[in-house]
Amino acid sequence: MTDTDDEVPRRTVEIPERIELPRLLDFYDLQDAEHTRIHEFYDRLREGDFSTTQCEDCGALHFPPRVVCPECTSDDLEYVSLPHEGTLFAFSAVRGGGPLGMETPFVTGVVELDGVDVRLSARITDAEYDDLSIGDSVSLVVTEIEDGLDQQRVFYEFEPQSEGENA
Ligand SMILES: [Zn+2]
Repeated sequence: MTDTDDEVPRRTVEIPERIELPRLLDFYDLQDAEHTRIHEFYDRLREGDFSTTQCEDCGALHFPPRVVCPECTSDDLEYVSLPHEGTLFAFSAVRGGGPLGMETPFVTGVVELDGVDVRLSARITDAEYDDLSIGDSVSLVVTEIEDGLDQQRVFYEFEPQSEGENA
């Protein structure tokens, strides 16, 4: 065939050394009323109150908070405070491939809150996998997200409770 190279337009694109990701690609929810209908949960958490919704009609306690009761479909829900202490029901370590912004390894677990019928998953902070056991006491930590924005976002983790050094 004929040599057509000279007739093909060519151009160059530049690949930036660093790609700025939009903030919505981070792991954490936007927490204000404009972005989530459970913003009250985050408002309370920011003040140190760990809470969730309870159905006014059937009494079901949900976690995470809901806008409609999954048991009876009522939307008559109220926020109630939850205990800050619980026990480790199960746990695992994430050793790689964590979400953006999370350094591995970290421990994630299922926590049974004391005195209420709530079992939730959360990161277990300040803990080494090898030092943990099922049944360990853990307590709530409110963690602020430093994102350089004005969102003042928070999330919850649990940390092992220091239990009197080899009781
Ligand atoms: Zn209900």
